[in-house]
Amino acid sequence: MRTIGHLIGGAEVADAAGRYAPVWNPATGEQQARVALASAQEVRAAVAAARTAAPGWRATPLGRRAEVMFRFRDLLDAGRKEVARLLTAEHGKTLDDALGEIARGLENVEFACGAPHLLRGGYSEQVSAGVDVHEVRQPLGVVAGITPFNFPAMVPLWMLANALVCGNAFVLKPSERDPSPALFLAELLGRAGLPAGVLNVVQGDKVAVDALLDHPDVAAVSFVGSTPIARYVYERATAAGKRVQALGGAKNHLVVLPDAEIAAAADAAVSAAYGSAGERCMAVSVVVAVGEVADPLVEAIAARVRGIRVGPGYDEASEMGPLITAAHRDRVAGYLDVATAQGASVVVDGRTDPATSGPGFFLGASLVDHVRPTSAVYTDEIFGPVLAVVRVAGYDEALRLIEDNPYGNGAAIFTRDGGAARRFTADVEAGMVGVNVPIPVPVAYYSFGGWKGSLFGDLHMYGPDGIRFYTRTKVVTSRWPDPATSAVDLGFPRTR
Ligand code: NAD
Repeated sequence: MRTIGHLIGGAEVADAAGRYAPVWNPATGEQQARVALASAQEVRAAVAAARTAAPGWRATPLGRRAEVMFRFRDLLDAGRKEVARLLTAEHGKTLDDALGEIARGLENVEFACGAPHLLRGGYSEQVSAGVDVHEVRQPLGVVAGITPFNFPAMVPLWMLANALVCGNAFVLKPSERDPSPALFLAELLGRAGLPAGVLNVVQGDKVAVDALLDHPDVAAVSFVGSTPIARYVYERATAAGKRVQALGGAKNHLVVLPDAEIAAAADAAVSAAYGSAGERCMAVSVVVAVGEVADPLVEAIAARVRGIRVGPGYDEASEMGPLITAAHRDRVAGYLDVATAQGASVVVDGRTDPATSGPGFFLGASLVDHVRPTSAVYTDEIFGPVLAVVRVAGYDEALRLIEDNPYGNGAAIFTRDGGAARRFTADVEAGMVGVNVPIPVPVAYYSFGGWKGSLFGDLHMYGPDGIRFYTRTKVVTSRWPDPATSAVDLGFPRTR
């Protein structure tokens, strides 16, 4: 059995701890490899390697660090298909979707190429007689990233492009379910000229995560994953004095007003709910149908859902691939029984899709109507191809539903009424909002982040917030005194 190991100090470390997890091929249901699960000792070795490499990397001229990013960008661009194949093999998403993930990840690398501009400080001359002030942004030292299974290339790129170009050394702990893309990214960065030890990859589970959260030499932690773990990471790492941004789960609502173009809203809802089999943190999982739009909208969505072609991600005919594991597939399918028991109606049952009964972790696309806000189908993040429809009487009820939801990642409205859209963008309790755009993921020169249970911390991820997160501000006040006017003065300065 092939073993996927760590990258520590530029060297591959296979399996020193002797603990492993299976890496499945979700399309066939077969185990294709095993991944080594790091012990605290291996995490300490990775942090030590990063700590050793950090001063040299920080001292590397900024233009040279940006040059490494430019080269990395070109290598990643040229290697898109190779990375996409790795994503499809371990995650299961379609090749087309995997290429989209890489394109969004590349945007973050391109943003980081602008570091010489982004890291410019400020200077104020003559703030007092003969006194000048300047501000610089300096790297934090060793920082860590802990990433989820659903975007094994893009989410690491959200973090490490900015962190590295700012002059930090990085320890990445990818998801143990699809561990290979992170190693491939590290290999490309090495080929782009990143010195050994500046980026380290430790594979692992809670043991590795806890070792990073507690390690005194880790200055900051970026986390993306489910809400309970995000909260845990935030609490434990901040208690250890670290800077933390921890992005959690989501329940993203798409509100459709009665004046909306129904075909366009249905197309958008289906694309956003079932792309990547619903395993996206910005997937639409709830359609909020306002007033009389509900019946024709559900009919239009159902017609489209029945046409989704489910199959292996590497098959070009497939529009939707399998789920990540058998256990996750069964959990997601279980919500269809919950739906019926809790008074909803299953309009399209994905369990009847022929792919569901074949090998692999497949589940067809499902649509559930008349979901009550008290039902687990609404309250839980299902993270699979199950779209819930909640019917409400009016706009205010739709807004209140989103307000009362504990998550606040994305929200979207479909309407032809500019006034209603403007009101929605101003009032809605979510960090990323779409107007006739179902998945409003910000481009890389803005920042990504939700509200409420979707993000713990102060700064959003990537973009300008990413630069802020991975640097500390230092303000220098300076004077070149004239010995002739120098005197002892114990007072607080009263005059300018
Ligand atoms: P997860 O929370 O199970 O795992 C995320 C990371 O935490 C992994 O690296 C995992 O090894 C580690 N981990 C898991 N259990 C842990 C524990 N008990 N203690 C310490 N570390 C632990 O999430 P996942 O299933 O890999 O990913 C799906 C989740 O991520 C969904 O909830 C999704 O919404 C969320 N997500 C959020 C965003 C966002 O930007 N807000 C983006 C992508 C995914």
